[in-house]
Amino acid sequence: ASKGAGRRRWQLFSHLMADDARLEYQVYRELPNALASQALFLHYQPQIDLATGAVIGVEALVRWRHNGDGFWMPNSFIPIIERDAALSRQLGRFLLHSAATAIARWRSDHYAFGRVSINICARHLQHSAFLDDLDETLDRYPGTAAYLTLELTETQALADLDKSARVLGEVRKRGIHVSLDDFGSGYASLQHVRELPLDVIKLDLQFVQNLEHDTEAFAVGYAALTLAEIHGAKVVAEGVEEARVVSLWRRLGGEVIQGYFFAKPMGERDWLDWLARYRPAARYAEIPRWRPT
Ligand code: C2E
Ligand code: MG
Ligand code: MG
Ligand code: MG
Repeated sequence: ASKGAGRRRWQLFSHLMADDARLEYQVYRELPNALASQALFLHYQPQIDLATGAVIGVEALVRWRHNGDGFWMPNSFIPIIERDAALSRQLGRFLLHSAATAIARWRSDHYAFGRVSINICARHLQHSAFLDDLDETLDRYPGTAAYLTLELTETQALADLDKSARVLGEVRKRGIHVSLDDFGSGYASLQHVRELPLDVIKLDLQFVQNLEHDTEAFAVGYAALTLAEIHGAKVVAEGVEEARVVSLWRRLGGEVIQGYFFAKPMGERDWLDWLARYRPAARYAEIPRWRPT
């Protein structure tokens, strides 16, 4: 019986492997075309400042439109792209260009969107051509820097800490903000994170969603807020779905929220409609802040 179970497990495993290999092959083969033909496109999710209720930013999240079976979500294909420097760079250049043109469109239509955040792969950030790619976009679309934020995941930033810190320093010199994504999900020591030049720290959704009931999640959230104070950075809680977490975050001293509670990621038309209709609610500012004594 145990032999049969073992074989079944192996079959399942080999199916998954075959699917992975097929997907990987497809991504390599189709990404350039997908980028050119707008099969890759962005959804947008707002970030709200609790003190004022204002929209202070919007994260651009990539989707892949596929013939026949709808969208591919990024968790399926981004890990494949992230392993390869050339693919990471292709995606990154697409994101820079898409963000810059979106910023130009939205500014000319007088939308108050704050900054646009894009997710950059470490292999692009650490590519020798990264700053050239960035400057090419900034030269072509002057004024973009003040409306742009680059997000980099904690694990990726720490893969080559010295290099990341140096490049991110250059990024900030241009007036672009730097955001540390998925804080708490890796194994970063606080000391290491301290060495990165940062404007924003994003508390990973797994901690945000457990803030209420899990002491460890609470501790990680508190660490993010403490670290942010040292940096003069803001902390974004990502993945907030419930009103109770909004007030808890505010009581803890957290300032910014991104999550389904306010809005899901939306196509550009829906996002701009949402933004045009959005009215800040003052009630979050009235929640008293808790401070340790
Ligand atoms: P991330 O950058 O941490 O993005 C946040 C993810 O949390 C998004 O998933 C978003 O839709 C989801 N989310 C936001 N609010 C809530 C909520 O209240 N509840 C729940 N359950 N989820 C929420 P998405 O769009 O599937 O993206 C997943 C990840 O894929 C991103 O995590 C990022 O690491 C990667 N990714 C997405 N777009 C890009 C991109 O353009 N470039 C790169 N390099 N990575 C990307
Ligand atoms: Mg992100
Ligand atoms: Mg994140
Ligand atoms: Mg994530």
